[in-house]
Amino acid sequence: MAAHGDVVSHAAGVRRRLDFDVIVVGAGIMGSCAAHAAACRGARVLLLERFDLLHHLGSSHGHSRTIRDAYPKARYPPMVRLARRLWGDAQADAGYRVLTPSPHLSMGPRSNAALLAAVENGGAAEVDMGGRWGGGVFRVPDGWVTAVSELGGGVLDATKAVAMFQALAVKKGAVVRDNKEVVGIVNKDGGGAGVWVTTSDGEEFHAAKCIVTVGAWTSKLVRSVAGLELPIQPLHMLTLYWKIKPGHERELTAAAGFPTFSSYGDPHVYSTPSLELPGLIKINYDGGPPCDPNSRDWVSGGGDAADRVARWIEEFMPGHVVTVGGPVVRQSCMYSMTPDKDFVIDFLGGEFGRDVVLGVGFWTLKVLPELHVH
Ligand SMILES: Cc1cc2nc3c(=O)[nH]c(=O)nc-3n(C[C@H](O)[C@H](O)[C@H](O)COP(=O)(O)OP(=O)(O)OC[C@H]3O[C@@H](n4cnc5c(N)ncnc54)[C@H](O)[C@@H]3O)c2cc1C
Repeated sequence: MAAHGDVVSHAAGVRRRLDFDVIVVGAGIMGSCAAHAAACRGARVLLLERFDLLHHLGSSHGHSRTIRDAYPKARYPPMVRLARRLWGDAQADAGYRVLTPSPHLSMGPRSNAALLAAVENGGAAEVDMGGRWGGGVFRVPDGWVTAVSELGGGVLDATKAVAMFQALAVKKGAVVRDNKEVVGIVNKDGGGAGVWVTTSDGEEFHAAKCIVTVGAWTSKLVRSVAGLELPIQPLHMLTLYWKIKPGHERELTAAAGFPTFSSYGDPHVYSTPSLELPGLIKINYDGGPPCDPNSRDWVSGGGDAADRVARWIEEFMPGHVVTVGGPVVRQSCMYSMTPDKDFVIDFLGGEFGRDVVLGVGFWTLKVLPELHVH
C-alpha cells in the first residue's frame, strides 16, 4: 500500500499524489512550527519548501534571535509566555537546546511611550546601570530609562530551531520536501473538496487545508493564486556582528549573564549577547529599505544600517566594542512588514473560504503558530 506522499499516477503529465490533511507552504520557522503543530494533532502533513531546507534566502536563517516579553503592545507578552512553554516542550522532545535564557534590558528616553509600555508589559524593573554587568558597559544619557526583565528573555538559535521543528514534524509523520516551489493553490468544484497545490515542476498535491507561510514572498504568491493585493512589504535587513574589545570578551557573553537589549529612540538598536561567535557581539539596526525578495541587492542592500549602529556603539558602548573597519560579519535577511506591524494569522477567504490559512507579516516575535486543523 502506498503511504501518503507516494506518487500514485501520472495522468495528463501531472504526477498525482495521495491526500494529506494539511499542506504547509514555506519551511521557514513559521511553516516548520505549523507543520509540527499540525502533525502533533494527528494530521497527515506535507511541508513544501521552494529552496533547499535551511537556506539563507529568507528570514529564519542564522543564529541569535531575541525572545522577550517586553513589548509595547499588551497583547504580545501572554503570547510570548505561551510560546516559551511550547519552546520548552519542543526542546524536551528533541533532547537539545535552541533557547538560551538571558535577561532583557530595555532602554531609551523617558519620553518614549513605546519604551514605557514595553517596560510595563514585560514586568521589567528599573535598574541602576552602574552596578550591572561589571558596571560601565553602557554610557546611558541622563533622562534615559534602563529596565531589566530577569525572566522571559532569551536567545533563540534560528537555523537550529528550524531544523529542530522539521525533525520533530517528521518524527510525528510529516512529509517534508524541498526544492518544491508552489505555483498554484486552487479550490475545485466551488470549494468544500479541499485544496489542490501545484509546484513548478508539475506535481500536484491534494489536502483538506493549506497553510501559507511564505514570509517575504507572501504578496507575490497571494497575488498569483488569489488575485489579492496584500500590503506586506519585505524590508532588507542586516545582521551585524562586531568585534568585542580585547579583555571584555567574557563580560559580554550570555554565560556571564549579559542581556539581550533594545535601545529605543533614533536609531532603534537591538542586540544579543556574545554566544555563537566568540569574541563577537551581534548589534543590529531595527530597520531597512524595501526590497524585492527575488532580486535583492546583496552588495549594497540593507541601507546605512552599519553606519547607524557604528555611531550608536561609539556613543553608548565605546569602551567595549570596536567600530573601526565596520562590522566583522554582515548577513542579509528580510522582515515582512504589515502596515500596523502586527502579524496576520487568518483565513484567506474568498473562493478559498476557510481552507487556506495565511501566517504572514512576521518580523519579530517568535510565536509558534497554533493553527488548528479541523
Ligand atoms: C535581521 C533579522 C533579525 C531578526 N531578529 C529577530 C529577533 O530578534 N526576534 C524575533 O522574534 N524575530 C526576529 N526576526 C524575525 C524572524 O526572523 C522572522 O519573523 C521569521 O524568521 C519569519 O519566518 P517565516 O517562516 O515567516 O519566513 P521565512 O523564514 O522567510 O520562511 C518562508 C519560507 O517560504 C519559502 N517560500 C517562499 N515562496 C514559496 C513558494 N512559492 N513555495 C514554497 N516555498 C516558498 C521561502 O523559501 C522560505 O523558506 C529577525 C529577522 C531578521 C531579518
